[in-house]
Amino acid sequence: MGQRILVLYSGGTIGMGHTPQGLAPVAGLLPGLLVRFQSEVLDFDLIEYPQLIDSSAIALSDWNRLISDIAKHYHAYDGFVIIHGTDTMAYTASVLAFALQNLAKPVVITGSQLPLVHPRSDGWSNLADAFEAACQSDLHEVVLAFDRVLLRGCRARKVDAASFSGFASPNAPTLARFGITIDWQRSVWRKGAGVFAAQQLDEQVKILPLLLMPGAAAASFGSLLQGEHHGALLMSYGNGNAPAERVLLEGVASASRRNLPVLNLTQVMKGAVAVGAYAASQPLAQAGALPGFDMTPEAALAKLTVLASMSLAPEARQARLLCDWAGEMSIPA
Ligand code: ASP
Repeated sequence: MGQRILVLYSGGTIGMGHTPQGLAPVAGLLPGLLVRFQSEVLDFDLIEYPQLIDSSAIALSDWNRLISDIAKHYHAYDGFVIIHGTDTMAYTASVLAFALQNLAKPVVITGSQLPLVHPRSDGWSNLADAFEAACQSDLHEVVLAFDRVLLRGCRARKVDAASFSGFASPNAPTLARFGITIDWQRSVWRKGAGVFAAQQLDEQVKILPLLLMPGAAAASFGSLLQGEHHGALLMSYGNGNAPAERVLLEGVASASRRNLPVLNLTQVMKGAVAVGAYAASQPLAQAGALPGFDMTPEAALAKLTVLASMSLAPEARQARLLCDWAGEMSIPA
């Protein structure tokens, strides 16, 4: 018997059809088109969500639905394929990477830049590669299949809205390349261990994403940080540098005193926060900001959200924040 895969179809360009208003999700269209993938070696069931969304509308409740659907069917299937819009695909992949703990099966997310009904759609190859990956019983992580590469979900970023090469993982190696033969990079795959557990998200969690830019932003972020939230990701310059702006630093210190983590991430696509590389990185660290090393903003938002949803003592939460949990960051020795 072949592999048993569960497909969860949440929306996105891939399943859109022509409507009088332009391209829009059309219920039933994608499930009908996918029948051609059924074979002796691949047997899948598909759940089409009642509200197919453009993924720019994704909310914590949508993530909870994906988490609970995978948890509910975890033991009945060999792998999972999630069909999703590209706009927030890297966010969803990151959330699942932290929420599906001790995963011992593949969870593969994919979509496309052109809908399946378009004659040049990239969706067919993306789906074919996603199914291949979902059949690898030693792939124990959340991954993203797109334009002939397989990427670690919590390392992936949408980098191109104009070509088929929509995604990259600038700080992590590729997990597979799909050519005439498939080059599985098994040596960099994560090894599953422990008992699978799914963490539901607290839908009230509020994380502040703060993108530093020259000008008035730093001061206004300071007052946001003084307010109510569950943590923040501060996207600083270069290797984690920021102006020594008093109001910003007071905000970071206030949040840290209240055990609301402020993660310092770099806004540069590639590279890491390295506290001490420049003197300009010290004030943030001294105010209590924690280094996010080379984590993507998508992974940082997901990690903070999942951690805020767990009942953990502040010290335990901080310890988990600073350790590599799902392959999301490299910590310098
Ligand atoms: N706006 C679409 C979405 O994210 C884009 C896509 O799927 O490529 O749902």
